[in-house]
Amino acid sequence: MEEMKNYKRADLHMHSTFSDGTKTPEELVRLAKGNGVELISLTDHDVVEGLSSMRDAALRAGIDFVNGIELSAGFADKPIHVVGLGFDETNPELLKQLEDTQTKRKQRAVEIGRKLEAQGFKGIAEGVYTKVSNPSLVSRSHFAAWMLENGCVKNSNEAFMNWLNPGAPGYVPIEKISVPQAVELILGAGGIPVLAHLGRYKLDEWKIQELINLFKEAGGVALEVTTGSHNAKQTQAVLELVRSQRWYASTGSDYHYDTSRYLPGLQGDLPSDLMPVWTLLGNKINSNLRQ
Ligand code: AMP
Ligand code: MN
Ligand code: MN
Ligand code: MN
Repeated sequence: MEEMKNYKRADLHMHSTFSDGTKTPEELVRLAKGNGVELISLTDHDVVEGLSSMRDAALRAGIDFVNGIELSAGFADKPIHVVGLGFDETNPELLKQLEDTQTKRKQRAVEIGRKLEAQGFKGIAEGVYTKVSNPSLVSRSHFAAWMLENGCVKNSNEAFMNWLNPGAPGYVPIEKISVPQAVELILGAGGIPVLAHLGRYKLDEWKIQELINLFKEAGGVALEVTTGSHNAKQTQAVLELVRSQRWYASTGSDYHYDTSRYLPGLQGDLPSDLMPVWTLLGNKINSNLRQ
């Protein structure tokens, strides 16, 4: 058996123009390579279309690649993100669910557009599509981008707080799969489920443990520790959990655009005492996994 590589630097969470990022997979690889990344994944929201370009670009650049995705799930009325790594991107059950999620996103976008037009954002219902780079994947981020471009908000956080988040006038709920369903889809496609940016969810401590238990019972094995979606305190809290409960650890910048907290690869390497998730990925690395 080939010996498992120990990567000094990995980035297993980032977004491209195939979802709500502003860089192409090729540009992401260039940025990551420049920052010393040795193993990369692309984890666009609810789509797999960017994976083949990312794989080709990574292999050309001489860095290792593994398939990724970030599935939108729900728990206790909160959006929870489950990352999948090293799965078969042609798995029919997974693709069927992605299509369903994409359709619901499109329907939600029409309603968000209608609500925001009624709030005085003239032209947003149509205009948002100038910000959407993959017609299969429309996100609240694209509405925030339109608002920013049209000078309606100072930054995208303001767009979410004032207009797009629950309780705000442009909020439209969307039906989501459960966390166990997300885990099962990834496992069913031969992948490794990772609970994304756990420190970011605004849940009581006992609810967090309930979420983790649910994730584990369904077959989840890894938590993201260093991520662009955690501040230092949140990273510390998850790090303690990972050490005390012996979880596998993942890491990723969650890079979307130039104003993201970290550029690809710069989210902070995993502490060396942790069990990195890539020890589970084995021959899924640099494979296209198509059957
Ligand atoms: P959606 O999946 O369409 O509901 O949109 C969620 C996406 O919006 C996330 O993946 C983030 O990229 C982005 N997002 C969520 N909250 C904020 C925020 N407060 N500021 C900026 N971007 C955000
Ligand atoms: Mn996003
Ligand atoms: Mn996320
Ligand atoms: Mn993300």
